[in-house]
Amino acid sequence: MSFLDYAPAPESRAIVRLRPSYGLFLDGEFVDGHGTPFPTISPATEEHLAEVATADEHDVDLAVAAARRAYDEVWSKLSGSDRGKYLFRIARLVQERARELAVAESLNNGKPIKESRDLDIPLVAAWFFYYAGWADKLDYAGLGANPKALGVAGQIIPWNFPLLMLAWKIAPALAAGNTVVLKPAETTPLTALLFAEILQQADLPPGVVNIVTGAGATGQALVRHPGVDKIAFTGSTAVGREIARATAGTGKKLTLELGGKAANIVFDDAPIDQAIEGVVNGIFFNQGHVCCAGSRLLVQENVHDDVVERLKHRLSTLRLGDPLDKNTDIGAINSQEQLDRIRELTAAGEQEGATPWSPPCELPANGFWYAPTIFTGVQASSRIAREEIFGPVLSILTFRTPQEAIAKANNTPYGLSAGIWSDKGSRILAVADGLKAGVVWSNTFNRFDPASPFGGYKESGYGREGGKQGLSAYLAPSGGAQ
Ligand code: NAD
Repeated sequence: MSFLDYAPAPESRAIVRLRPSYGLFLDGEFVDGHGTPFPTISPATEEHLAEVATADEHDVDLAVAAARRAYDEVWSKLSGSDRGKYLFRIARLVQERARELAVAESLNNGKPIKESRDLDIPLVAAWFFYYAGWADKLDYAGLGANPKALGVAGQIIPWNFPLLMLAWKIAPALAAGNTVVLKPAETTPLTALLFAEILQQADLPPGVVNIVTGAGATGQALVRHPGVDKIAFTGSTAVGREIARATAGTGKKLTLELGGKAANIVFDDAPIDQAIEGVVNGIFFNQGHVCCAGSRLLVQENVHDDVVERLKHRLSTLRLGDPLDKNTDIGAINSQEQLDRIRELTAAGEQEGATPWSPPCELPANGFWYAPTIFTGVQASSRIAREEIFGPVLSILTFRTPQEAIAKANNTPYGLSAGIWSDKGSRILAVADGLKAGVVWSNTFNRFDPASPFGGYKESGYGREGGKQGLSAYLAPSGGAQ
């Protein structure tokens, strides 16, 4: 250990008591599934954590029936302020169990504990607090007086922010008066199942939220179920397309939060050190498993060399390793499948002539790991400039004028987010105006707030989550359900 190395500072696992196996959460109880159970592991060590049930079509049917019953008999009859009380209670229980949830999230997902502890779980609580406040104010959501809930919402979420994506889905749905069947991702089911325990603690009426674990087939059964009134999906564009086809013409409402290939645009007048922090946060936060990650750095040509040099210096200080160590900056890749995808795309980047660079860094022997990597000399037509890598990999391109920056930033099938780094407010506003992206950050990146709507254009999907806009996805304007 050199003079400046950090001593290990592992968070204790003792706070999480995982059961050896988990059932489905149906109608307020944990029950066995009819599908074949599957193991869930820690991607950092490949250690077996628990056995998890698989919901087949029959189980999904039971879950939807429970949600419908709860909607008809209980939830739709409660006042908004009573629904709000349940949401406040859930938010407070999340806060009470925050350390346990953070450790479980880092164990099952591989993300650094400082991110799950300081970002994921506090935002989960914030989302429930925020929508708890809306539950009795739906008349002010901009949909006319007395908007109506849709009924049963089927929600399918990915593995990159397991509990936070659950909160983004469940909190507005319940506040608006819907009941829910939610399917977590197959690699990260654990915090959703701990959340089910929280629902029991909160005395949420049975059937208001049901959690069905399993892989794509379980998601498909939920999407196709005729008893579901709305589908909310976050995940890949390919699956989003399939869901759009499956729901077309069925009358089901649909919102899709899909991938992204965001540009982080650095002008020569930007505060460069601050921009470097934002670029690093933009792509290496959560190992780059972020749909709005700033995966393309567009840097003004005259500061390119300086920016790249400082970026390399900063990357050399990042610590990769045990997600439960409080000093860790870069954790594990979530699965072997995702690691293979990252390797395939970075190999393509090299073949297409771009130059990769990674800081010296020792990868652990077990688990799934990828060193933070930057590519210079990237052509706009290269696969690593166009396709979502969803890993700790940054593609660097240059521009000369603001017009060129806008054109290059928009030269993507996606349109989820973007970042602008400049000292000039007028330039930031002018460039932001030209960007086709749902969220544009200026002199910051990856900021999330429950009051702020989030969502994309083009292949990044449609619909907004967060804010009062996020409620409209779960409400029909007065005059009846659509
Ligand atoms: P995915 O779209 O395959 O999975 C997301 C969720 O959908 C999971 O719960 C999965 O079980 C479910 N699912 C899979 N097939 C389904 C189907 N046919 N019908 C209904 N549900 C189905 O995403 P992934 O395999 O986890 O990741 C693949 C790529 O997706 C990543 O490389 C990344 O590019 C992108 N991704 C984007 C986000 C995001 O937040 N936008 C999140 C995760 C992954």
